[in-house]
Amino acid sequence: MSETEGQRLALQTIAKAGQIVAAQISFDGVATALLNASLELSGAARGAVVLATKGDLTLSENAFEPGLPLVSKLKPDGTLTDLSMEVMRAVVETRAPHVRAVQSGSSATVLCTPVMSGTALKGLTYLEFDSSRHEATPAAAAAVTLLASQTALTLDALGEFGSQREEPVWRSRSRSTGSIATFRWNPATRLATGSPEYYEMLGFDPESGPIDFVSMASRVHPADYPTAQAVVDDIVRRRAPLRIEFRIILPSGDVRQLLWSGQFDLTNPVLPELVGVVMDITELRAADDLLRAAQEDADRQLRLAWLGEMAGSIIHEVNQPLGAIVSSAGAAAHWLERDRPDIEAAIKSIQRICEIAHRAGRTVSDMRALTSKSSTEIVDRSMNSILGEALQMSSALLNRSNIRTATAFDPNRPVVSVNPAQLLQVMLNLIHNAVDSMREVSDRQRILSTRTRADDGVVVVEIADNGVGLPSGDTGRLFDPLYTTKTAGMGLGLSICRRVVLAYGGTIAARPNADFGATFVVRLPQAE
Ligand code: ADP
Repeated sequence: MSETEGQRLALQTIAKAGQIVAAQISFDGVATALLNASLELSGAARGAVVLATKGDLTLSENAFEPGLPLVSKLKPDGTLTDLSMEVMRAVVETRAPHVRAVQSGSSATVLCTPVMSGTALKGLTYLEFDSSRHEATPAAAAAVTLLASQTALTLDALGEFGSQREEPVWRSRSRSTGSIATFRWNPATRLATGSPEYYEMLGFDPESGPIDFVSMASRVHPADYPTAQAVVDDIVRRRAPLRIEFRIILPSGDVRQLLWSGQFDLTNPVLPELVGVVMDITELRAADDLLRAAQEDADRQLRLAWLGEMAGSIIHEVNQPLGAIVSSAGAAAHWLERDRPDIEAAIKSIQRICEIAHRAGRTVSDMRALTSKSSTEIVDRSMNSILGEALQMSSALLNRSNIRTATAFDPNRPVVSVNPAQLLQVMLNLIHNAVDSMREVSDRQRILSTRTRADDGVVVVEIADNGVGLPSGDTGRLFDPLYTTKTAGMGLGLSICRRVVLAYGGTIAARPNADFGATFVVRLPQAE
């Protein structure tokens, strides 16, 4: 695996782990999720997570302070006294990650990381590496530290929630800072009430009584409204637990991301009310977005590396014949410029030029020669899965660019015979071009529509956008190498896409849409 690929996977794992940790609603759950993710990320042989459920984590002489409310998780099972107190003390004192060699059966190294909330120490992640198999690398230390810092945000929210749990959820009056609130909603009257924080979170005056449906709906972000309404309708019908995330827009224009969790209070089976908590996770998501942006960047680097490699092959294949053409042309001129021109020799040189040029043309159009390095693995693969993977890999970019996706995949999952990695790059290029074309669009919802279908032995993929549309003139030249209308464009993406598609006996074309934007159509022979 290349280093970039490794980094991309690590970032994906951290982002996923961060989401799992953030979804926990108990210290126990957070500790388990943090421990599992830290072990997975670092490759450590054994580990522990210790969290203080109240106040700061402190150490007395040789143990955790007696009476300190703690949650600890160890894997494989054991007790905290098995761990190196010396390393933990160093971390508690310096509040910084430490890597140390310790004596424990065989030789081992320990990576211990603090879980900090501001200046307060909330916990520790302790990982022991069996030196013969895995090392405590700087990358592992960075990954675990990043995850620990994300965990601290979840712990802050939990601390506030914990103080409210003693009371019935709808009557609680906590002094929380507003990042978590409790609510109660009656589906029959569609009226909601909640803790003062609830009113504050949604930007309503607590004195004005229950919040009606229209007022509530007016706060929901228009882009999230259809999904939110569908989920709420569904859980009301099924009396199912609620778990949803959506954005609201406050009267100040501020956009906040809220996570709702609740269930029906079935003590009144005739008119059960939905009771639950809502958490403002805007900052958590912002941390998540940073990770996603890093991941996106890694994806882009991979794509650029791929393009560079292909461009390198083209240059290599074309350079050598060009050199030969130049020298043969020189020779032809030489034969003709003599006092008695040697027509025969000149014709030979010119014939040689023709031959070389034809050979170069064939070489360039022969994709197999260009991609010999990566074309070894040709397999039968469902076109839906390749396109699906490309959409999945682009999801962060699409979200960030406010693009809605509409997909219509052929339910018969038509199969093509290709190198899936190459075809994935083709799909990514077409999707990224579509995103680029919608960057300037602000007067309509940006939509990326993708479709697959099989048509008489041909698998057709359509990628349509409602962006600025194709540049005027011959659409064929879009596929020429170095043709670009973008200031930072390379003009290689489509030419390479065409080479890949041609190599599998397919075609690629672009056409303008009736209203806005363009559709790129790839056709490939359907596998037997
Ligand atoms: P680059 O993206 O570096 O410009 P490409 O070969 O991928 O190189 O694209 C060539 C050109 O084709 C782009 O500069 C743009 O003018 C045009 N193009 C590609 N995709 C689209 C699209 N979805 N909508 C409009 N124009 C497009």
